[in-house]
Amino acid sequence: MANPLYDRLFGRHAGQDTPFLHLPDGSTLTHAEFLGIAARFAHVLSDAGLSPGDRLAAQVQKSPEALALYAACVQAGIVFLPLNTAYTVDELTYFIENSGAALVICDGASETSLAPVASSLGARLMTLDADGTGSLPERAARMRTAFDTVDCAPDDLAAFLYTSGTTGRSKGAMLTQKNLLSNAETLAEHWRFTPDDVLLHALPIFHTHGLFVATNVTLAGGGSMIFLPKFDQDAVIAALPGATVMMGVPTFYTRLLDDPRFTKELVSHMRLFVSGSAPLLSETHVRFEDRTGHRILERYGMTETNMNTSNPYEGERRAGTVGKPLPGVELKITDPDTGREVQQGEVGQIEVRGPNVFKGYWQMPDKTAAELRADGFFITGDLGVVDEDGYVTIVGRNKDLIISGGYNIYPKEIELILDDQPGVMESAVIGVPHPDFGETVVGVLVPEPGQSPDLDAIQAAAGRSLARFKHPRKLIVLDELPRNTMGKVQKNQLREAYKDLFVTA
Ligand code: ATP
Ligand code: MG
Repeated sequence: MANPLYDRLFGRHAGQDTPFLHLPDGSTLTHAEFLGIAARFAHVLSDAGLSPGDRLAAQVQKSPEALALYAACVQAGIVFLPLNTAYTVDELTYFIENSGAALVICDGASETSLAPVASSLGARLMTLDADGTGSLPERAARMRTAFDTVDCAPDDLAAFLYTSGTTGRSKGAMLTQKNLLSNAETLAEHWRFTPDDVLLHALPIFHTHGLFVATNVTLAGGGSMIFLPKFDQDAVIAALPGATVMMGVPTFYTRLLDDPRFTKELVSHMRLFVSGSAPLLSETHVRFEDRTGHRILERYGMTETNMNTSNPYEGERRAGTVGKPLPGVELKITDPDTGREVQQGEVGQIEVRGPNVFKGYWQMPDKTAAELRADGFFITGDLGVVDEDGYVTIVGRNKDLIISGGYNIYPKEIELILDDQPGVMESAVIGVPHPDFGETVVGVLVPEPGQSPDLDAIQAAAGRSLARFKHPRKLIVLDELPRNTMGKVQKNQLREAYKDLFVTA
């Protein structure tokens, strides 16, 4: 046996003095140096009594050591559980208790909140700060840089990631070696990654996007990463000349477009810009292409499945769509009531099957059984439609579907119209309780800076384009939409805020 995930992503670079991480202070960490840190960490973890299959939870700031911790876990067969740095004590308590983590890793920023949580749950705590006595790096300094990689089977758990919690409480998605490896290799090939690539990495590494898509794909392609602690506009602008590829969430691109320093000349040498995690507005697509000559490549994935679809590298990148299923991924659109496939061109729930699909939700057998069918198809919770050329468009989430007077209403259809109105930057359409119709439509608008949209004119425009039951019964103007760290609009917060508009509790 071997450890395919370690061997094919990390181990293949063993002994290579080629750069892996370009750091903000101008220094570079080679693949060999990075793997040396990871191997030392792996020794510390196994000395601490962690066995293959045990969970290690880490709430740490983004750093080369934090990434090496992931590599160390893979090498030692330990299940890596990165925790969002924004989690509160209540959330941390839930995740650490729920996952049964044997060891919790903190740093200076998280120690005060994590120490009492770990002690109340009887979990061990170790810090990732280099100067701490007994810290992970301090112990690691005494270790060798060779570690006997632990054998793992393709279906063994490699990581454990909680979903973003956009639609409710986060669920622990169990990801196997096979899930992560297959997706890394498929994407590296699909997006034509080579050892010459330098990925601008400004994403967090506690999420599928930054940890698996960006990092694993770079490793599979053999390239290096400009590893920025976070999306800082000045740092990103300064780093772009040295990069060949950038991966981001839509807000990265809108923020860059608002910056006059982001010019065609700055990025003319770039090979690829990828967007995902949330919908990219068609307007952003157009503005980006007008400004830079590059067409952003949009893809679609989720914690449970890694990446499902991508627009083509060569061939038409169709704005408003997330492209086509990746090689090895089967995708079908089904009727939520019957589970049967709908006609091409009809909206339904997106189901996917393939080596990328997770093993299930941790300790949630009922939820797993309800969403992961026996034949291997996973019901994603997203609604979509496939056009005649096979491009997939996401129209929203099943939970955001509005049912008003018995009619199904897809918020996206209304949002596209609202977004198009003068003075409107973006919108979110939600269903709120209504005494006669069950639910009714409410539109939340964010104006363009300095503008105050004419709400009567917008209602009139909606009236011209939409059937009566889809008209927003009320328009609300907000300075910004509530978003989580990945830039996803949190519609459940909006629904909660406006639940009493038409009914009194
Ligand atoms: P939770 O499942 O806890 O409610 P979440 O679904 O937001 O949270 P993630 O797994 O981080 O958690 O996000 C996956 C979701 O993000 C997808 O199901 C989809 O709704 C959305 N998404 C990802 N990429 C895109 C995209 N390119 N366009 C539109 N939506 C996208
Ligand atoms: Mg989800």
